[in-house]
Amino acid sequence: MSRGGRRFARRGSQLRPVWRIWLVWLAWLLTVSTAVAQTAGPDFTAAERQFLAEHPVLRVGVSAGQNPFQDIVPGPDGASRYMGLAADYLDALAPLLGVTFEPAFDITYTRALELAQTGGGIDVFACITDTPARRTFLHLTRPYSSLPYVMIARHSDNPVWNIADLTGKIVAVAPTFFAYERLQAAYPDRSIRFDFKRNARNAVAAVAEGQADATFLNLAAATGIIRDLGYDNLTIASVMPWPNNDVCMGSPFPLLASSLQKALDALPQDRRTALAERWFDAARQPARSQNVWPRPLLWAGGLAVLLLAAGWGWQRRRVGMSRRKALENDCIGHKDMLEAVLNATSDAVLVIDDFYRVIMVNETGAARFGLAAEALRGQGLLELIDAPVAATRRERYRQVQETGRPLRFTDQRAGRVYENAVYPIPNPTGGRPHLAIYARDMTEQLAADAALGESRERLDTIFRLSPVIVSVATRAEGRFLEVNEAFTAVTGYAREEVVNRTPQEISLFLRDTDRDNMLRILERDGVVRNMELALHLRDGQDLTVLLSCTPIEAYGQDCLLSVLVDITGRKSMEQALRLAKDSAEAANQAKSRFLSTMSHEIRTPMNTILGMVDVLRGTALTGRQQEFLRTLELAGESLMTLLSDILELAKIESGGLELAKIPYDPVVVLHEASALLDAQALAKGLVLRLETAPDVPRQACGDPARLRQILRNLAGNAVKFTTCGEVVLTLSRLPASPPREELLFSVSDTGIGIAPDKQETIFEPFTQVDSSTTRAYGGTGLGLTISTLLADGLGGRLWLESTPGAGSTFYCAIPVNGCNPSSLPPAKAPAAPQALAGRRSLLIVEDSESNRLLYGDLLENLPLTVTYAVTGEQALEMVEARAFDAVVMDIALPDIDGYTVIAEIRRREAAAGRPATPILVVTAYAFREEKGRAKAAGASALLTKPLQKNRFLEALRHVFGQSSPGQAPDSRAAWTTPDDSR
Ligand code: ADP
Repeated sequence: MSRGGRRFARRGSQLRPVWRIWLVWLAWLLTVSTAVAQTAGPDFTAAERQFLAEHPVLRVGVSAGQNPFQDIVPGPDGASRYMGLAADYLDALAPLLGVTFEPAFDITYTRALELAQTGGGIDVFACITDTPARRTFLHLTRPYSSLPYVMIARHSDNPVWNIADLTGKIVAVAPTFFAYERLQAAYPDRSIRFDFKRNARNAVAAVAEGQADATFLNLAAATGIIRDLGYDNLTIASVMPWPNNDVCMGSPFPLLASSLQKALDALPQDRRTALAERWFDAARQPARSQNVWPRPLLWAGGLAVLLLAAGWGWQRRRVGMSRRKALENDCIGHKDMLEAVLNATSDAVLVIDDFYRVIMVNETGAARFGLAAEALRGQGLLELIDAPVAATRRERYRQVQETGRPLRFTDQRAGRVYENAVYPIPNPTGGRPHLAIYARDMTEQLAADAALGESRERLDTIFRLSPVIVSVATRAEGRFLEVNEAFTAVTGYAREEVVNRTPQEISLFLRDTDRDNMLRILERDGVVRNMELALHLRDGQDLTVLLSCTPIEAYGQDCLLSVLVDITGRKSMEQALRLAKDSAEAANQAKSRFLSTMSHEIRTPMNTILGMVDVLRGTALTGRQQEFLRTLELAGESLMTLLSDILELAKIESGGLELAKIPYDPVVVLHEASALLDAQALAKGLVLRLETAPDVPRQACGDPARLRQILRNLAGNAVKFTTCGEVVLTLSRLPASPPREELLFSVSDTGIGIAPDKQETIFEPFTQVDSSTTRAYGGTGLGLTISTLLADGLGGRLWLESTPGAGSTFYCAIPVNGCNPSSLPPAKAPAAPQALAGRRSLLIVEDSESNRLLYGDLLENLPLTVTYAVTGEQALEMVEARAFDAVVMDIALPDIDGYTVIAEIRRREAAAGRPATPILVVTAYAFREEKGRAKAAGASALLTKPLQKNRFLEALRHVFGQSSPGQAPDSRAAWTTPDDSR
């Protein structure tokens, strides 16, 4: 007790009430922890009695420094005295056992344990802790004291409060301490260092004096020793969560242990309580110690105990204060955390007392009342609420307080809907329970739920009433989960007959393979679009539908949403249309066939008639007969024109017109077209002019024969409807609008013009400006119709500008590369005879326009540049001006006889030294002597009218062959007459 360290200050001897409660609690702990007391004397067995008789003096292992359990103190005579609860128990048990206990002051407690273990020298331990290790060599009684272990630590800047703080610290222990075993066994990895002391008192002193940081003792030993030593820097840091420290008696001899147990059991309860009170409430009952303590020490001891107790009380208060401080800090930390958690929620959380005054409220709760939490605290909650709502809430609160059971209810306040939960909380002052209230604002969620419900309902209605057939079925089996009204109406099955069944089960699919096909498409494309499906309806009928379906997640599984559109009507309409189209096409073809047959059949005799007219003209006729002949010829020619036009139109309309797509020179086409009309214009005294813009491309792609036909028709009309002035043919290029480049042909005249209201209709078939036109100018009213259709087929267009009385201009725009390949049938290479291969120039001398047109048709699509001359004179000029590969010569020319022209050509060639141009004579005179005349004149070949295409081309090939040196003329082809051909 003399070693360094601060001693506690001794204060007044008055014990604080708290200290009293503490001691009483310890005494209570001691008494309740011991076995149920028996009042009868011990009932020893014979063996026990014999043992006790044989061992009248028993040596007791004792230890100092374990107040209040055991201690060794010097007596007034200088001899050691064994003191404490254990010593008192021995005093009480000795008479019951009939023995004397002799404390072994001469050896240490550790040595005593060793002796007990090795079986010699020690008979009894009066105060020994029950541990498994000790049970191996000692027989122990039931504990007569059971107390918790506590950790004793020192106040410091870095205090140790529990085991977790011990890492790297020093723990003072006596090797016999149970705490040592415990710490070693339970915390082997903790770097706790042990400072071994002889006994508990030394361990406590080591902590107080800074040699160690903590030690562990049972609660009573801790308080007793701290009180004894009087250090004011120690604190009971924590109560350990270990098994209690059971204090027992023990002996190596089983008979002695059982005897001790029986003696303890025989000790009356009041005796035990007195013993406990003596050692744990010594200050309150000093008189009890008179039996134990030597009289001279009594007052001093009593006084010391009082002072110690007062000091301990003060010490406890200090320890308590620092503990409280720590706890307070802990509490503040927890409170802050709790507040943060509560403030984080969007629910209002309130605690109200038994009079419904707010004790605690989170921020959400306060905000709902428009107040700060501080301002809300203490206010009566129901007074802040509208009376009717407050009344029902008051009722609910009362219900919770009375039943003690939580309650949930929903109500409305200030236009918002709250879901409230009220829980009872015990009232610390014992009154009616306090209440914890959680209020969730459900307004938005309810509104959202309502909106969701509404939209679900709307979708449901759409699904139900949709006019198309809709179904939802499982993807795996196709089992219907839902179908709409259209489904039931169309299939004839009631919803109940379909739902939960597969299409196979109700034989809905006509073809078994349809479902497999659908799944295959689904697998490949993810969705199915417009798959044709045949359904077998309930009433036995079949229905064709288009199925579209997409995977969806519905009813908690993989499903397919399918939409079916009934196309039975469409299918039958399609079929009807197809049939109508087929029959229309067939009718059209029949019409075309009829027209072409008819036209051919009429044209052949017409050719003969016209040929005969030519023949007749060469005979001696009277003036009147000449006139009749001319009328006959005109009628025949216009009939031929009409036949050609009708045939042409029929061909175009039936789609039978085949357009070529070959390269051509637009300028040449323009010249050729104008050449056809030269004679006509000349005869009418009109000027026929050509204008070609310099930038016109010299190569285009398309069908030059058809283009020529259009221009010939336009120019023909211009000449026909103009009496004086001029006809101008122009070729230019339309301002480019890439990628489409167009040629612009125009034919202007200074003729009668066309009234604005007729400018549209004249493009209709058989339409003329007025019916008198036919009489005045002739024509069929088909020319513009054919030209428009041709221009259209060539990818171009036709239009006009006209002023009645002043003249007209017709325009034709044709793409340079423009034949629209998709709209046109593939171009057929012209079946050019071998000798016609390579472009050749041909001069045709023919005064009859219809014959010139006929030539145009015969030579269509051949690689020839054809120039026409209408008189003998013109022919001579042209042959003089340029070289032709061949000449086709009509004999009955208006000015000079054809044979005379041939002879003149031959004469001039001979004079100029030019090679002879092959000349084919075409004559209506089908008599044999014609051949001789022709040969005599210098012609190369002769052909009689009417012209048949094969024979004409054959003859042409023959004369062209003559222009290529080394080719022998084929006399049979070259000199043919109708007689020959029969
Ligand atoms: P056709 O000339 O055989 O009667 P078209 O279809 O070529 O048939 O012309 C139809 C009508 O358009 C003509 O009859 C005529 O009334 C009018 N027409 C055509 N070209 C001209 C023109 N250049 N000047 C005046 N009228 C014209």
